[in-house]
Amino acid sequence: MFGLMQDWPLLVHKIIDHAALYHGDREVVTRSVEGPIHRTNYREIRRRAARVSSALEKIGVDSGNRVATLGSNTWRHLESWYGIAGMGGVYHTLNPRLFADQIVYIANHAEDRVLFFDPTFTSLVGEIAPRLKTVTHFIAFADRAPQANFGHIVAYEDFIATGDENYIWKEFDEHSACGLCYTSGTTGNPKGVLYSHRSNVLHAFMACQPDAMGMRNADTVLPVAPMYHANAWAIAFLAPMTGAKLVMPGPKLDGASVYELLDGEKVTLTAAVPTVWLSLLHYLEETGKALPHLKRVLIGGSACPRTIIESFEMKYDVDVVHAWGMTEMSPLGTLGSLTAAVAELSQEEKIAHKMKQGHPLFGVEMKIVDDTDGELPRDGKAFGKLKVRGPAVAKGYFRGEGEHAFDREGWFDTGDVATLGADGYMTITDRAKDVIKSGGEWISSIEIENIAVGHKAVAEAAVIGISHPKWDERPLLIVMLKPGQTATKAEMLQFLEGKIAKWWMPDDVVFANEIPHTATGKIQKTVLRERYGGHRPLSG
Ligand code: ADP
Repeated sequence: MFGLMQDWPLLVHKIIDHAALYHGDREVVTRSVEGPIHRTNYREIRRRAARVSSALEKIGVDSGNRVATLGSNTWRHLESWYGIAGMGGVYHTLNPRLFADQIVYIANHAEDRVLFFDPTFTSLVGEIAPRLKTVTHFIAFADRAPQANFGHIVAYEDFIATGDENYIWKEFDEHSACGLCYTSGTTGNPKGVLYSHRSNVLHAFMACQPDAMGMRNADTVLPVAPMYHANAWAIAFLAPMTGAKLVMPGPKLDGASVYELLDGEKVTLTAAVPTVWLSLLHYLEETGKALPHLKRVLIGGSACPRTIIESFEMKYDVDVVHAWGMTEMSPLGTLGSLTAAVAELSQEEKIAHKMKQGHPLFGVEMKIVDDTDGELPRDGKAFGKLKVRGPAVAKGYFRGEGEHAFDREGWFDTGDVATLGADGYMTITDRAKDVIKSGGEWISSIEIENIAVGHKAVAEAAVIGISHPKWDERPLLIVMLKPGQTATKAEMLQFLEGKIAKWWMPDDVVFANEIPHTATGKIQKTVLRERYGGHRPLSG
């Protein structure tokens, strides 16, 4: 017997309908690509998104067609998402920090029909345009089309002026494709994750829970996490769903610019990768400024170092929620809000729990397995390959790539190595490909990095494995110092002493002028391995 409840397809554009109707006046503020602050609201965003839908149909875009966006977080980018989704298209976020060749590969693989882009990326688009096989329309997110000598560029404002603001959204199956985002593909080609309307809406419900993002109508939210990094971590859906005020940072993500918005717009909730927060904390240290309005900061994308958690919590009285997720999970998997039991513990123990990656959301199943796929105990000690499944987890990549990551029971292999605690907390030991294998045992590069970055002279730290005749691999600590600071190898090793097991102690320390990052702001271990993999410690 079936229940007698209504079928109300979970479609993403219903979120902006809700926002326009019930939170129409709520502000959406952007630091525009051109510079000045721009203010609009959800009613306007909805109206202009309808124009985007209608204008796309007029140029022949059909349901299921991919429409690429190459832009920072702005109100226009947000409108384009809802407009593309509302006519049955698939928004495809391109990461402008990828190499031109990678962008070309991804756009051709996705068969994008249209490309929306920030005017700041005009020369990049000019470089790739001749190699884009399927893009027929180039639309600049701007009042006026930038000068360029490729294709026919239309200004976004002119484009949407051709659309009808009374456009009626299409109705279709909630399983229809809605968004596409490629993982950065540190090994092999980038792989496309194809979100559905249903998965996006369910993920937004999941992420909205108080112990997850905890977003409320009264919040002012700043997604520093870009829309091209796994759906801006759901914030582009959550903010209109709750009617929270939205502050979009545009292209400027440095400490001073982020601070200006946090303070000027009285932001209460924000989210980004650790490197963004390192930059903000350095800025606060230098200027002596404080964060009187900010209540919660979501930190994820790579492991959050202890010093970031301690600074936010103890110096600035901001609650840190450490989050783990991945593009394939829409992206949120676990979040580090404290459970009732942990909230009773000492400050020191609470911080230790915040260093873990957190608790799974309802809707995320997890298990850890050994090399033969046998399930390992949830005892906080055994570590193995982390597998996940749920309604907002990918069941395959676009066009059937990377099939080995998905098993017959629907589990997706995250490529991470983790422990699961009896108390529900998950801790990432490493990415499977970054873990250091020394004498048959595993050393967690993440854990050493997190401690090293706590040294007052250190701006950033990375640990990689270097080959060793007896132990197979040994850790090498690579340190980038803060400007004007000094430290020696002996000082660094002494700082680690007592904080990690003796046999985890790096064999050597090298001081580097820069630590390379991926397009999503993570330490690029592949490049470090190329640069330092052959390093031999002087003492042997
Ligand atoms: P990309 O590699 O393209 O940046 P993702 O953002 O999807 O793609 O990367 C997901 C991976 O990032 C995870 O599998 C994990 O290795 C790492 N990661 C994300 N959040 C955390 C975290 N809080 N702690 C440790 N690792 C993390």
